[in-house]
Amino acid sequence: MTLKLESKAIKAAVPQLKFRTQAFIDGRYVNAIAGKTYDSINPATGKPLAQLAACEAADVDAAVKAARRSFEQGVWSTRSPAERKAVLLRLADLMEQNVGELALLDCLDAGKPITDCLTMDGPDSAHCFRWHAEAIDKDYAQVAPTGPDQVAMIVREPLGVIGAILPWNFPLQMAAWKLGPILATGNSVVVKPARQTSLSVLRLAELAAEAGLPEGVLNVVPGSGSVIGAALCKHPGVDAVAFTGSTEVGRLLLQYSAESNLKRIVLELGGKNPQVVFDDAGDLDYIAQQALSCVFWNMGENCSSGSRLIVHRKLKNKLLARMIEFSKDWIVGNPLDPATKVGPLIEASHLNKVLEYIESGKQEGAKLVLGGRRTLLKTGGFFVEPTIFDGVKPTMTIAREEIFGPVLSVLTFDTEAEAIALANDTQYGLTASLYTENLSRANRVARAIRAGTVSVNCFSEGDATTPFGGYKQSGFFGRDKSIFAHYQYCELKTIWMQLT
Ligand code: NAD
Repeated sequence: MTLKLESKAIKAAVPQLKFRTQAFIDGRYVNAIAGKTYDSINPATGKPLAQLAACEAADVDAAVKAARRSFEQGVWSTRSPAERKAVLLRLADLMEQNVGELALLDCLDAGKPITDCLTMDGPDSAHCFRWHAEAIDKDYAQVAPTGPDQVAMIVREPLGVIGAILPWNFPLQMAAWKLGPILATGNSVVVKPARQTSLSVLRLAELAAEAGLPEGVLNVVPGSGSVIGAALCKHPGVDAVAFTGSTEVGRLLLQYSAESNLKRIVLELGGKNPQVVFDDAGDLDYIAQQALSCVFWNMGENCSSGSRLIVHRKLKNKLLARMIEFSKDWIVGNPLDPATKVGPLIEASHLNKVLEYIESGKQEGAKLVLGGRRTLLKTGGFFVEPTIFDGVKPTMTIAREEIFGPVLSVLTFDTEAEAIALANDTQYGLTASLYTENLSRANRVARAIRAGTVSVNCFSEGDATTPFGGYKQSGFFGRDKSIFAHYQYCELKTIWMQLT
């Protein structure tokens, strides 16, 4: 389905949507073995959207067995890189042809603004598969510098069966970030999408089959994280788990691995990311708009959300005034409306958590200068106003904990050393952005900040060519995107040959 970014076209397309609600195991849709289902809620209305299969450990086991069988049979793992590339490129084409449908699924299921789903998540996810597909038949193995009587080849081989556990904030895109490199390198996979947002990933599995991905290579099991996520992580038939989600659950995964088969665990976790604005920064209007995007985009339900604005004391009032002015552009509303920039939060419990953080900001003495309330109550949806606190102290809860909502804390500094210390004063280290027109300072500060991605004079997560992941408690072991993501899903083998 193609879709025009117009209210009328969107309204007409919604009733045509068909939800895939069963698990996808061994190339076909199946009910959960126990026959149980659960309601996926539309966060914009608070009402049930679809009834999905509530998978349990037995379903995970069936999916892992299918994945293992496909891996051992070599129907994907031993195909030439050029053949795997062709299938994944077909999948990227199919995603583009169906981008309207995929965008609507994420919009309804996750409450993400349709404009973002249709212009970013959908096309970027297809591009992600295309990028990883294009890379595989261009990546050479190595020959070690041995003596003349030996040849030692260093080759990469697929790991085997990978579990991919996804968050709800970018359902399709996080699937692409994981599946692109996992499939490109020849692995079989069992995906556990977030309980709240499984619809686009379930449809993606069907498109992958249509593209020619053999049965059993890609399986999707919807359901509760504590039930099937845990079952997947403890399963002895799984060789690695790639996870994007909270630091809290990431910690559990390391325990599950230790208690089972020491499977490899790749963790992409939370963030409390700084945006640092120096007194020699450029155009303040531009910076104000970038800074708002950095914190309010995707309702702040974004691991790279720049939720701490660390600004030079001299500039603070001026920048904040511009940001409050531009915040009017951040229209809160129905995510199906192309004008909406801020949709609902994912669910009622998360809305309450964000409202509690806002309350704690007030209680601990920060000054609320924008928003701060639940809004659009009549819709039944979980909407909150974009919110800014001034006068935040580094010890306050809102300056330390990941809120995962549209809430900005503004802190001030006087010297460069103080700015760096504030930026690094967090258990996390995922992203950071900094603004200065002094090139030496940009380089110095970018290197001093302990984070996986530092963007200078913009808010950016890089693109498909750059690795994405965290320092400190924002990550463990690996990176998403780029060729670096391929290697974490491979074993490294030495083949030593004696020639005389
Ligand atoms: P979450 O940790 O609650 O859930 C993530 C996934 O883990 C879900 O699929 C969930 O069902 C599953 N899960 C829950 N309990 C489990 C268990 N005991 N065992 C196995 N799996 C389990 O996180 P979330 O609320 O879905 O996502 C938000 C978090 O993700 C935020 O902290 C955010 O910063 C982080 N995130 C990080 C990145 C990154 O690239 N670093 C990207 C997006 C989101």
